[in-house]
Amino acid sequence: MTRKFAFLLLALALPLSGCEKIKSLPFLKKKKPVEVVQQPVPVAPPPAPAPKPAPKPPEEPPKPDPSKSAVVVLCYHRFEDRPKDSLALKPVDFELQLQSIKDNGFAVVSMSDFLAWRRGEKQIPEKSCLITIDDGYRTGYEVAWPILKKFGYPFTMFVYTNYIKGQPNAGGQSLAWRELEEMRDAGVDIQSHTVSHLDLRSKKGRAPEVYEQWVRDELVNSKRLLEQQLGISVKALAYPFGNHNAEVRRIAMEAGYEVAFSVYGQRLTYHNAPEQLGRYAIESSKPQIFESAMKMAGGGAGADAGSVVSQLAASSMITQPMEGETVTDPRPVIKANLSTLGVIDPGSLEVRLSGVGPIPVKYDPETKIFTGQPPQKLRDPSYTVLVSAKVKGRKTEVRWSFNYGAPGATAAAPAAQTEAPPVPKKQKEKRRP
Ligand SMILES: [Zn+2]
Repeated sequence: MTRKFAFLLLALALPLSGCEKIKSLPFLKKKKPVEVVQQPVPVAPPPAPAPKPAPKPPEEPPKPDPSKSAVVVLCYHRFEDRPKDSLALKPVDFELQLQSIKDNGFAVVSMSDFLAWRRGEKQIPEKSCLITIDDGYRTGYEVAWPILKKFGYPFTMFVYTNYIKGQPNAGGQSLAWRELEEMRDAGVDIQSHTVSHLDLRSKKGRAPEVYEQWVRDELVNSKRLLEQQLGISVKALAYPFGNHNAEVRRIAMEAGYEVAFSVYGQRLTYHNAPEQLGRYAIESSKPQIFESAMKMAGGGAGADAGSVVSQLAASSMITQPMEGETVTDPRPVIKANLSTLGVIDPGSLEVRLSGVGPIPVKYDPETKIFTGQPPQKLRDPSYTVLVSAKVKGRKTEVRWSFNYGAPGATAAAPAAQTEAPPVPKKQKEKRRP
């Protein structure tokens, strides 16, 4: 009750009744409410005041629904007027791409918004784009940044710490700490691309514990150095060459990264596993990579009615085994959530395994999850799961791959290869010059 209202009542009550009565009005006795109880006269409820406007329910901010949004992540390297190789892009082409991002209806989000979205804390636009620049070349600072500023786009630098000026592998194209500080102060996200930019899968005859420690050092020390030098929190990792295996992914999560990126171009939804988020590695000689990013190709609905849609399952589905995962169970459970396909005709669902053929599965239309198992033991080092089903009368196909390594088998030479996800559309990151 407001004070004003109390006085109003008081004014009304005065001519009509004595002060005694007024004193019994409980709202005038704020300070000693106990006395009210002690009144010998039964305390009638205060005269019902005119109905108060219903109190406004406390305004709860609308709960973010992260499943509404999808993100494409672009990965750039260098920016040169005369590109020495396909990882360099002409500034003019870069600018055209930035315009194209806008024209295609994307909102460019920062890494911190991306992470907040991943945590379910923040809504981001339904079509979002994250811009990342790898390695830490000067041209990111000198050429790309001014162009990005023109558009007001946030972006992320994935630097490998050995390449920073003053570090063991620095070169003429290296960025200095003070330049990174300047970028940091202007709101550019700086994240880790490891210490040495070596292929994290390469075991090179290292004993398992030596290998594990080496990977850990690459991931932990780069994070720590960036955090200490720049006073930032490093939450994202870009795997060198986009390469990783199950151990690398595990160690990345243990090292405190919230997300880790490969170069497996895909439309990312809230449900993608954090330890292998794909990026489109833009190359000047392959404009189709940028084009497929703009189409968010690799996931989601897309093709014309009546045609067979082939999608990369990993981009939009939760699968078991995961894309690129190595399993040791010779008869692994194969499972996927088909909700991103839309409403499928359950009778039309068919699941095949490369080298095996159709496998029996159970489909639950409620959860949209199918579960099955190969009828026979696996033998090959890698398998592709092909799922087809009719959605509104149209045949839709999705696929993903995983690897099989018999338990106890020593990781032979091909291990490094088979543990990597298949790289579609030749998006594999090239060797750095
Ligand atoms: Zn790199």
